[in-house]
Amino acid sequence: MSKAETHPEIREAVRKLCARFPGPYWRGLDRERAYPTEFVKALTEAGWLSMLIPEQYGGAGLGLTAACAVLEEIHRSGANGAACHAQMYTMGTLLRHGSEAQKERWLPKVASGELRLQAFGVTEPTSGTDTTRIQTFAKRVDDMYVVNGSKIWISRAEHSDLMVLLCRTSPRDDAGKTSDGMSVLLVDMREAKGRGLTIKPVRTMLNHATTELFFDDMEVPVENLIGREGAGFKYIIDGMNAERILIAAECIGDGKFFVDRASAYAKERSVFGGPIGENQGVQFPIARAHVQVTAAGLMVDHAAQLFEAGEPCGSEANMAKMTASEASWYAADVCVQTHGGFGFAEEYDIERKFRETRLYQVAPISTNLILSHVATHVLGMPKSF
Ligand SMILES: Cc1cc2nc3c(=O)[nH]c(=O)nc-3n(C[C@H](O)[C@H](O)[C@H](O)COP(=O)(O)OP(=O)(O)OC[C@H]3O[C@@H](n4cnc5c(N)ncnc54)[C@H](O)[C@@H]3O)c2cc1C
Repeated sequence: MSKAETHPEIREAVRKLCARFPGPYWRGLDRERAYPTEFVKALTEAGWLSMLIPEQYGGAGLGLTAACAVLEEIHRSGANGAACHAQMYTMGTLLRHGSEAQKERWLPKVASGELRLQAFGVTEPTSGTDTTRIQTFAKRVDDMYVVNGSKIWISRAEHSDLMVLLCRTSPRDDAGKTSDGMSVLLVDMREAKGRGLTIKPVRTMLNHATTELFFDDMEVPVENLIGREGAGFKYIIDGMNAERILIAAECIGDGKFFVDRASAYAKERSVFGGPIGENQGVQFPIARAHVQVTAAGLMVDHAAQLFEAGEPCGSEANMAKMTASEASWYAADVCVQTHGGFGFAEEYDIERKFRETRLYQVAPISTNLILSHVATHVLGMPKSF
């Protein structure tokens, strides 16, 4: 391990845990598109998923750099934290904007793992990235919100008890700003399923437990409104910096996995009477991948440190996510190329990780939207939309 890595004790403990879940475990699940229940249970019991929850609510009260170390090590080991990473940060919306009564009611149970809060419902089929055009509407009727509409790509919904849901509570055209008039509801999915909430799994190129949700007069008690009605967009945006930085850390873990595997194979595979890694055509791309992953890792550390210090970090979180996801994807491609035909064999785990890391240039935000943010917010160029 390099001396420059943060939180060495945490990394060591996470590595030990991940060693109990080697390649065959993930391959079997991938084939079936099955949820890694045992792995998530082990992470929950070890307290890693509640580490960002303050101690007063039963968590470890650690900062984002520690959580980054956990997710990086999970991914570096060949595992995939996407099945549960949202249990770490989705509670942030409740923590930052919920009432004291809501926090006391929900957070200790989320911290203990009794309740899973790892579904986050924003994206809709028609609005896509243009979140202000979401159509899911929550109409207030007495002490209930009655919700109608649909969401797409809502990950882990089948494996979550609670969901943070963004909906409109007044039409876009009535709002002062287009981002006004949206609200965040904490949905108790145990009560909603079959009573207005339908969950339909979406099979994808990776094992990701993602779903489509349909709301048909789903009732949510008004007491589950988080913060102020109409101010929900800001609450969701607030949570996105943590999500982007943590997922960037997963990309760094993926990138290290690919560089480790590629360099090991290049040293050991002998063709034409010598190791393939003595050819610069093989070694330079691996060296380049290492450089890119290392540089992106510094950007992720920088963004995480700003977040932890309570400093503004929207642009840094975006840049960390973009550089890390591009570095991991380049490393993935190089790793497949280095392995030749074996890069395509399931038993090497490389093709699985290749598919998994591709996601991060699209979700949780696509690269073009990050470039647009940097072009307009950082460099002051005009906005195209
Ligand atoms: C496996 C998976 C899991 C996900 N999990 C969740 C989840 O749990 N919760 C949730 O709410 N969402 C989730 N998402 C949704 C994800 O955040 C979106 O897919 C992503 O933000 C892109 O939105 P979109 O698919 O609607 O693409 P669109 O907005 O339709 O965009 C399509 C393409 O066009 C580009 N584009 C669009 N507008 C512009 C523009 N103005 N300029 C330049 N390029 C543009 C985009 O960059 C993109 O490449 C998930 C998605 C996937 C695939």
